[in-house]
Amino acid sequence: MRLRFWGTRGSIAKPGPATVRFGGNTSCVEVRSAAGTLLVLDCGTGAHGLGHALVANRTRPYRGHILITHTHWDHIQGFPFFAPLFLPGDEWDVYAPRGLRESLRDTLAGQMQYTYFPVSLEQFAATVRYHDLVEGVFSIGDVQVSARYLNHPALTLGYRLEVDGVSVVYATDHEPHSRALADGRGDLTGEDRRHAEFLTGADLVIHDAQYTAAEYPTKVGWGHSTVESVVRVSRAAGARRLALYHHDPMRDDDALGYVVEAAQAQAGPALDVFAAAEGMTVDVTPSAVPRAPAAKAPITARTSVPEEMLDQTVLLALDQPDLRERLMEAVMADGLKLATAPDTDAVLRPSPTGTLSLLMLGSRLGGRDGLEVARAVRDGGECGDKDMPIVLVAADEAEADRAAGAAAGVTDWLVAPFSMLYARTRVRAWALRQACRWIAAAAPPDEVERLRALHERGILDTPPEERFDRITRLARRLLDVPTAMVTLVDAERQWFKSRSGFDVTETARDLAFCSYTIQQDEIFVVPDALADPRFADNPVVAEGPRLRFYAGRPVHVAGRRVGTLCVADNRPRQLAEDDKRALDDLAALVEKELA
Ligand SMILES: [Zn+2]
Ligand SMILES: [Zn+2]
Repeated sequence: MRLRFWGTRGSIAKPGPATVRFGGNTSCVEVRSAAGTLLVLDCGTGAHGLGHALVANRTRPYRGHILITHTHWDHIQGFPFFAPLFLPGDEWDVYAPRGLRESLRDTLAGQMQYTYFPVSLEQFAATVRYHDLVEGVFSIGDVQVSARYLNHPALTLGYRLEVDGVSVVYATDHEPHSRALADGRGDLTGEDRRHAEFLTGADLVIHDAQYTAAEYPTKVGWGHSTVESVVRVSRAAGARRLALYHHDPMRDDDALGYVVEAAQAQAGPALDVFAAAEGMTVDVTPSAVPRAPAAKAPITARTSVPEEMLDQTVLLALDQPDLRERLMEAVMADGLKLATAPDTDAVLRPSPTGTLSLLMLGSRLGGRDGLEVARAVRDGGECGDKDMPIVLVAADEAEADRAAGAAAGVTDWLVAPFSMLYARTRVRAWALRQACRWIAAAAPPDEVERLRALHERGILDTPPEERFDRITRLARRLLDVPTAMVTLVDAERQWFKSRSGFDVTETARDLAFCSYTIQQDEIFVVPDALADPRFADNPVVAEGPRLRFYAGRPVHVAGRRVGTLCVADNRPRQLAEDDKRALDDLAALVEKELA
């Protein structure tokens, strides 16, 4: 993988004699895989130079992908000046974190309104597609991209790129969650530890390192890392190289040189630290020493979140009136629903508004300790499920006992002082994480009888049989799909009596598309799983076999829907009338065999 820095400065472009060495343009990095996939990381003012270089050197038509971390100016100001967007025949895909109420396209169009810019977004001659991202894993060409929320006063994603046997993490702008880490000391816990996991074994980490620990006390809550914290996290993650990035506009070349020397001294020999410099090219090659494998992302998917899934309730439960008021404002700013709990009982009682997506708990509530309340919620409170994030709100850093919090099941901390804007970003990140889970099908009303019919047939866990396999082979051929299966939906799992083009013998019932199919008599069709909120984040869609299309016809035993004959594809598609009839006929053959 080869990459080139076109902009390295943070916050505002800073050209001039004092920034010649490390550069004055804002964030922009060009990345190319060996196979030629072109990625552009952020579109700060550095994108102007990159755009012209692409136009001058082009093999037409161009196909590229722009990954934007967030839409603060220093990361998008070069977008309207990116020359390839004005060339007909080119194709660009633009990715950025999804806001709660406006799309990426609207946000980018905003900075191109006629008051600010003479050309509008509609005037791009290239084909430009916009993708609103949430946290997850997806592919761009041969590059696997993992996106993870960073800690910044705007919804921000860091990107981990894996291709050609190497991994590069691009993490800007991000502030350490704990004060101790910002100072470059203390253990990595909670979200700080998860951030380090995101960097695990990276061959190159490009990380915002805007401030030094000495400067940090006046920059708390600004959403940026200290050099000391970045070195510490990169070392803990076992990264090989670290490019300090998003340089403070107040730091001239000489000062930055000293900062790098100090960082190298802190890093020691295991981690190669340098400052990203405009015009610098870096070839990232696989390490001779085998690296620790990257941590697996817990939730995965690229998906647009439908509006109705954002109707989520945040429960605020804390004594401190000043913090409570700021948090109420932060929750309601994006139209999330708000519930408040004056005491512990109200937190532990089932919520009248349905499922909660987030609990924000004070370090004191009704005279009780917040950690104690968190523990009680995890141990059997009914207001949310076990995966509901609990964010503990602490009045100061001394109150934020992160080790005790982790033991009590606390997901994250919000430590005062914080601005309303900052709290709003944290709330948004957690709400979006919650919105992006797949929905498991409910059990059909005749579940007991259905399972009895299935178990009485005695077919579960029997060896493959040609009389079923020939049907799935035919289904594959007739419907022109890579996968066809005869599935039986058991109490907790779906088991495959026959499978053609699929090499798993069973999956959890919660993951099964067929759990939906057995709720109806007609054929159940999902034309594009990624566009369907019931499946977009399902691990078989977001990772693993990456299914996009599914069609299943229930099969009956003794009049009960015990399973399905289903087909699946990795491409979205429709089920034509002929295909439906074929699936019907084949399912009838399955039923005959089962009988
Ligand atoms: Zn920035
Ligand atoms: Zn920013």
